[in-house]
Amino acid sequence: MSNNKQHFKISKHKDYLFVIQENISIVHPVYTNDPLNIYLILGSHTALLLDTGCGLYPLKPIVDDLIDKKKLLVFNTHTHWDHILGNVEFGEVYVHENEADIVSKPYDVSYFKDSPNEIVKYYAEQNFLIPPAKLIKTLKDRDIFDLGGLEVEVIHCPGHSPGSICLITSNNELFTSDVAYYGDQFLPKREDFPQVLDTLSKLIKLCEKQKIIELYPSHRKYPCDKLLLTDLYNGIKNIENLWESKTSLDFFHAWEINDDSGKFRYFISKM
Ligand SMILES: [Zn+2]
Repeated sequence: MSNNKQHFKISKHKDYLFVIQENISIVHPVYTNDPLNIYLILGSHTALLLDTGCGLYPLKPIVDDLIDKKKLLVFNTHTHWDHILGNVEFGEVYVHENEADIVSKPYDVSYFKDSPNEIVKYYAEQNFLIPPAKLIKTLKDRDIFDLGGLEVEVIHCPGHSPGSICLITSNNELFTSDVAYYGDQFLPKREDFPQVLDTLSKLIKLCEKQKIIELYPSHRKYPCDKLLLTDLYNGIKNIENLWESKTSLDFFHAWEINDDSGKFRYFISKM
């Protein structure tokens, strides 16, 4: 691992919330959802790190500095590469039970072999197989963690991936992971859109019921208004009307569709 501290941009957003940002396009230019937002939530006795990033530069020393002597929990919001490749730095990592198998073994990133970016040599040195955390623990819907003066609740949000989770805090924040953000959307195949829409409806209702006021997505802009959820819901519904305009993007094995909202572009899995 390199020691370039410039790699991460660290911001103190609130007394108890740090945002550690990493640009993922440095791995392959096809990824445009810069930056990735890694959140560090601090309770009085326990801190929670939400995702571990691309695994290119040491993250743990930065986290250790910020949490002082607090206990640390590490969650993966889901198991796409940009959220988990730093797992090996941490002894134990929590992930939703639907994706525990994926992060329990070395993670294959051989699809980066042809990247024009020099940084992938770091993955090449590891034969494009990135080692996992020592211990994987599982999360399920409605699990609650007490961080000390602050509770977080796990909400299972399948769609973007089978084990995607969001977190609701007792301070009325919703961490939306890759389930909702403004930017390029990676969607499952068209037949599975109902699940994506069900998840978004569930979150829209939760926001109303629990008076959620701030959304913290794992990519690009934060915090967002809850309008993000309805914007995305309506955008995905509208894909049906734009289906004939799709083009193929082989790198993602996906169909690409642009709407003219300026908010989203959609990659819809062919597999
Ligand atoms: Zn993802």
